[in-house]
Amino acid sequence: MPQAPSITLVTPTAPIATATHGGRAKCLQRLVRLELPVPTTVALSFDTVLGIANGVMPDPSVILSQFEPGALLCVRPSSEDPDWGGPGAILNVGMTEEKHAQLAETFGAETAARMYLRFVQTYAVHVARLDPDMFEDAESPPAEALYDALRAYEDEYEEPFPQDPGTQLIGVLRSMARAWQGTTARLLRQAKGAPADAGLGLIVQHMAQSAGPGDSGAGVMQLVNSDTGLPQITGRYAGRAQGREALNAGADVLYLEKDPRGPSLAEQLPDAFDALKRYSVLMRQRLREEMQCEFAIENGRVAILDGVRVQRSNRAAVRIAVQLAEDGVIAREEAICRVEPRALSELLHRQVAPNAPRDVLGRGVAASPGAASGVIVFTAAAAQARAAQGEPCILVRRETSPEDIRGMHAASAVLTERGGMSSHAAVIGRGLGLPCVVGASSIRFQTRRRQLIAPDGRVIREGDTVTLDGSTGDVLAGAPRLIEPALDDAFQTLLGWADDVRDVAVRANADTPEDAKTARAFKADGIGLCRTEHMFFEDDRLTVMREMIFAGSSEDRRASLERLLPMQREDFTRLFKIMAGKPVCIRLLDPPLHEFLPSDRAGHQALAEALDLPLSDITRRVEALTEYNPMLGMRGVRLGIAVPEIYEMQARAIFEATAAANVGAAVVPEIMIPLVTAKREVELVKTRIDAVAAEVRTRMGVDFDYSLGVMVETPRAALRAEEIAQHCAFLSFGTNDLTQMTYGLSRDDAGRFMSAYVQQGVFPEDPFHTLDRDGVGELLTMAAERGRRAAPDITLSICGEHGGSPESIAFARDAGFHYVSCSPFRVPVARLAAAQLAVTPNIR
Ligand code: PEP
Ligand code: MG
Repeated sequence: MPQAPSITLVTPTAPIATATHGGRAKCLQRLVRLELPVPTTVALSFDTVLGIANGVMPDPSVILSQFEPGALLCVRPSSEDPDWGGPGAILNVGMTEEKHAQLAETFGAETAARMYLRFVQTYAVHVARLDPDMFEDAESPPAEALYDALRAYEDEYEEPFPQDPGTQLIGVLRSMARAWQGTTARLLRQAKGAPADAGLGLIVQHMAQSAGPGDSGAGVMQLVNSDTGLPQITGRYAGRAQGREALNAGADVLYLEKDPRGPSLAEQLPDAFDALKRYSVLMRQRLREEMQCEFAIENGRVAILDGVRVQRSNRAAVRIAVQLAEDGVIAREEAICRVEPRALSELLHRQVAPNAPRDVLGRGVAASPGAASGVIVFTAAAAQARAAQGEPCILVRRETSPEDIRGMHAASAVLTERGGMSSHAAVIGRGLGLPCVVGASSIRFQTRRRQLIAPDGRVIREGDTVTLDGSTGDVLAGAPRLIEPALDDAFQTLLGWADDVRDVAVRANADTPEDAKTARAFKADGIGLCRTEHMFFEDDRLTVMREMIFAGSSEDRRASLERLLPMQREDFTRLFKIMAGKPVCIRLLDPPLHEFLPSDRAGHQALAEALDLPLSDITRRVEALTEYNPMLGMRGVRLGIAVPEIYEMQARAIFEATAAANVGAAVVPEIMIPLVTAKREVELVKTRIDAVAAEVRTRMGVDFDYSLGVMVETPRAALRAEEIAQHCAFLSFGTNDLTQMTYGLSRDDAGRFMSAYVQQGVFPEDPFHTLDRDGVGELLTMAAERGRRAAPDITLSICGEHGGSPESIAFARDAGFHYVSCSPFRVPVARLAAAQLAVTPNIR
């Protein structure tokens, strides 16, 4: 049985709740409780509005009886969350011939005609659903245009324009209720996170007459600047002569306080301005939020029509939350929860200014946030040459390989045709804080001809300027305005509060001293993953590394490794120094050796010269090392078992750096073995590393500790965690490879079809981007449980690219992991996300 419509006058004690009447209705009730001058308002509940959409109409006289006879009304939507949108407001309901005549007396003929005309236009289009073209703004004077509009309405609708306020009101309520049920509205709000059955309430409010005689007008006021979050009274006011529409158009309005653009409301109507300021301060204090106050002035009297949360940039959101807490309006825990962690990453990088025009050439995966402009170049060498001349450039590659690292360092951003969230370019880009768009396959990459062809046919040649927006995945033509990062005091304060409460540690994946410095600057709790292979790509080392790979005998190999040893030792010494006693987890060499060799003929030739070997030797060796499936081939611990000298050299470098470290606190390095699948691998490597440690201790006469851990990144290691845990101090989950191997999905190629998979609901999200709780997550919890069974105190962590995402941190926390480790630039996001998880139960 349909329920009786619920029509509630908004009073301080009326039964109104956000969950039944929507956020706007609730907010208006709060304003009424604060005794602000809110015009009479009636709220219709979600159920009532749903009933209206289904044809159960309320008695309009019950609504109208709440207002003075002949009042003009406005109807506005009230959804549970204002972000879910809703149909546009309809103003001046109740406008009839009679009312028009009355208003002409007091407001003047032109104003009255304009008001009536606007209402007829809105009603015709949104309620009677007539063709908008017929009711477009005419050039003719308002009285004539009104006459035409009324005639057009009657012609089209075959009835005169309704003259009964009750009929008008019912028509408006029905059209708004139905609009909410429409497919477009439904899809739009679901995209913003609304449930499928989200309700809509409606508000019917007496219209304050901003077009009336005397000092009348309408405007908005807020106490902070929406871009910076700094205190500043901002807003606009349109006097009766300009009309409300001017507010949206933004032209010819008064600014509120002294403003170089023109006279201000404060100067012209000081009493009204003071009252508004008082009301706004009260709203901030009592609604515990920066609010924008929508107001009207009716013959000098202020009316408050609505209060909405101030729109804010991400940087403003941080400052507003911190300021509210510092003013004692909200608790620190609440300030922590008011900032979306992901929004922080925007503050760490340059961004395209929100209002800058965007000429989109194409799109790809937003793999590393931030924006940069520069001329495009197609080789790492060209990137270095441009950088040497101080010219910012964007490195464009089909995909990047370790050989491109130096070019990536030199470039301001990287664009690739292939790859996904955990491809080489993406991982390195995030590590360097370099904006990066990968998998931009809608653009044609003609790398030999050194040009790109956009989907619309535009050709972008080497030397042309483009902008990469790594936060959205857009490739933009030209150089739109960028805004600088905002690591200001508010940012530091908020993260300081976050650190006070969080209970999951956040480490950084850092391979170089620069990364480590960034990690320290972002207050990481240590290094969770140092990928040592990245240390071998510097030019001087690469040659020695290649010599080692080409060594004909074990002795030759040892000789090359002897040359690499001091370089590695220096790397670790610098890392320990920068991290000043914080934990540093070093992963032994992981990639297959062929990654260190050149991939093209010119590179082979150069290497033949450098090593003084015949070209044929080089090509033969490269071929011999080539694998059909290198990611499943001789890499990680397999290399450590097959060529043990490499891991021994690395262990020696780590221990010598440890023994010599003088950082004020004992350095206890953590050494991690990659790609383990069996406990015997760990036993073998452990025995050798222990022996190296003993030898260094004796030789250097210094005692030190170290801990050995296993990177769990193959399904078998997860399944056999119990026996593996018996031989190590920690398990760190490498969720990149674990995702790749659990799904049997290449992390470098999945980008090609990932969007089709996500669009068709095969995967809810890209599993390289968002940790797959169901499958990979099950392996993680199972392995953690098995590992703990053997070693209850074992340290557990996630160090794959997922480590920094709020969802993975929630997962890690639920599973009782000790830390997550992520790219240095994601550390602040992770710190805030971890803090929110810790305080959320106290807030709710
Ligand atoms: C992993 O596989 O999750 C990982 C962190 O290692 P890499 O990305 O270097 O393979
Ligand atoms: Mg891995």
